[in-house]
Amino acid sequence: MPGASRVPGARPASQKPENTVDDHRKLGRELDIFDSDPLIGAGLPFWLPEGAAARHEVEEYLRRLERRAGYQHVNSPVLGKREMYERSGHLAHFADDMFPPMRMSADDELMLRPSMCPHHALIYAARARSYRDLPVRIAELGPQYRAERSGVLGGLSRVRSIWLNDSHNFCALDQVGEEIAAILALMREAHRALGVVVDGFRVSLRDDSPKYAGYDAEWERSGALLVEALDGAGIDYVAAPGEAAFYGPKIDVQVIDAGGRELSLATVQVDFHQPAQFDLRYADASGGRQRPVMVHRSLVGSMERLFSHLIEVHGGAFPAWYAPVQLVVVPVGDDQAADAAALVRGCAAADLRAELLLDGSLGARIRQAAERKVPYVGVIGSKEAAAGEVALRLRDGRQLDPMPAAEALALIGDVVAARSHELVR
Ligand SMILES: [Zn+2]
Repeated sequence: MPGASRVPGARPASQKPENTVDDHRKLGRELDIFDSDPLIGAGLPFWLPEGAAARHEVEEYLRRLERRAGYQHVNSPVLGKREMYERSGHLAHFADDMFPPMRMSADDELMLRPSMCPHHALIYAARARSYRDLPVRIAELGPQYRAERSGVLGGLSRVRSIWLNDSHNFCALDQVGEEIAAILALMREAHRALGVVVDGFRVSLRDDSPKYAGYDAEWERSGALLVEALDGAGIDYVAAPGEAAFYGPKIDVQVIDAGGRELSLATVQVDFHQPAQFDLRYADASGGRQRPVMVHRSLVGSMERLFSHLIEVHGGAFPAWYAPVQLVVVPVGDDQAADAAALVRGCAAADLRAELLLDGSLGARIRQAAERKVPYVGVIGSKEAAAGEVALRLRDGRQLDPMPAAEALALIGDVVAARSHELVR
């Protein structure tokens, strides 16, 4: 059966997300998340300060989550020599999606990377590895480039410059099943915290096309490992022939956009091909040399596509923990401006993102905060200022009784620390 009815947070494929009313392109511009300029180019959006604040919070969350799960983060260059992509198989199987090479001299051509896989394979190869080290999880939240045709580009969901939450987990063959299970669990945790609405899981397999590399036995083995991990986690899936990566089959986690189109967000892939191409090895218990399996995975896909989805499912009203501005402070009159400014400074010291709004009528400022989907508005009138208090208004319309400023910061801080989707715990 298609869909993923046994997965918490998932829903039947036929049903559109309730909040998916506005396209992320419209909301993203209205909320100052991102924009673009034809002079920079199609498919090359830029993130405005509000969007960048939300994105940085999410990136930091992902890095912390991965560190706790035993991942090691690296940084690798966005360019590489043509020979590297010949070796990895990208030029033979993926060249149509790559930008043309930059010719430095007759025997030196550089290419913008279409993926981080070969870089990470070479980082693995850069140090001697023992079976005791495995799995070695080399992670990077970094850029890669895809020469998408200009006709299909739009907003954040189809772009040419892609910042991917990526990792390559190098395992012994008998560790692969457990590793995929751990990845699926980590994915579920990240999706819950962010509010990703999974439409379903897809097992992407090869078809008869010559674009696929490797041997039949390896394809069968990889596909079986992915399916076993899904079955073990009680996750339903659909099979999709012809949607595999050129080097192996994959699990794709699908979401639906505002236009009803299906997009792949997260992924897990099993690859025997690239470890062979780069002659990757580890020393086994008896000192022999073994070849690791490479598990490619992304918990949430690219920052661009992730945010196109999050903007739509939340209608721009992000959970407080990654809202660009978490609290807008509005003094009722000029006499309370100093108290309001002190509250904003207190927020900054407590790692909360707050903003002081001074211009316009009280009603207009509160409306402005609502239009920007800011989770909390702190109103300080003469009574509150005299008592050292603030009256919180929540994004959902609720108004709390005035409370000491420290208590208000603790309330917001608790919601943020718990990554709650509620505004009061
Ligand atoms: Zn990869």
